[in-house]
Amino acid sequence: KSTARFLVGGNWKCNGDRESIVRLVADLNSGDVPSDVEVVCAPPFVYLDQVSKALMPPYQVAAQNCWVGKGGAFTGEVSAEMLSDCGVGWVILGHSERRALCGEDSQFVGKKVAYALEQGLRVIACIGETLEQRESGEMFNVLEEQMGAIAENVSDWGPVVIAYEPVWAIGTGVVATPDQAQEVHAYLRKWVTEKVGAGVADSLRILYGGSVNDANCVELAGQEDIDGFLVGGASLKGAAFVKICNAQS
Ligand code: PEP
Repeated sequence: KSTARFLVGGNWKCNGDRESIVRLVADLNSGDVPSDVEVVCAPPFVYLDQVSKALMPPYQVAAQNCWVGKGGAFTGEVSAEMLSDCGVGWVILGHSERRALCGEDSQFVGKKVAYALEQGLRVIACIGETLEQRESGEMFNVLEEQMGAIAENVSDWGPVVIAYEPVWAIGTGVVATPDQAQEVHAYLRKWVTEKVGAGVADSLRILYGGSVNDANCVELAGQEDIDGFLVGGASLKGAAFVKICNAQS
């Protein structure tokens, strides 16, 4: 396990409206989150302000993405400095939906990580293989390529969290087995030990993401190298998400 606190992220994706978010926030605020767990909720950009104002500590907020560099003539984008300016402390980068649907490759994700860190944001950087890559034996090469592009852009790992999210498990209801997840998490920690250093590997949080819910979270959280979760679907249900935040206790 990482020596840092267990971390649970809620990725709300492109879901919700003002009314449903009022209810979700109320459910989260009424839940008990242990003090040794860090929780970060990521609403869509336009609701960040509403959620930041309404969510009580210990919940923190994250954006789901940001632009690769300084703001300017980039229609439709939101820059890292804008997030900082609005008091948003975290950003999720390299989510597989953005890699697959918006054409973000590993080099681009790496640059985003560098710029967001430079602006003082904490980053949840996502990696993960497709089913085809897993079945053809390319999984570790793919993960290494994605991790490499992130690592090249990080000098201080303190504000960085890695989320391992196998694409075949995201939003499918097909969760990785605890053994499958542990195998990859152990591989990633070893990779970080060798390529970056043992100190970083000991404190780095490696989250698992992909169909985590309140029924499967306890067994996953029991795995040696799982240091938290990135949760999509179940993060939209307050009670289930709070249970996931309690998976370790
Ligand atoms: C995600 O998109 O980060 C995710 C893990 O989604 P889900 O929990 O719905 O599989």
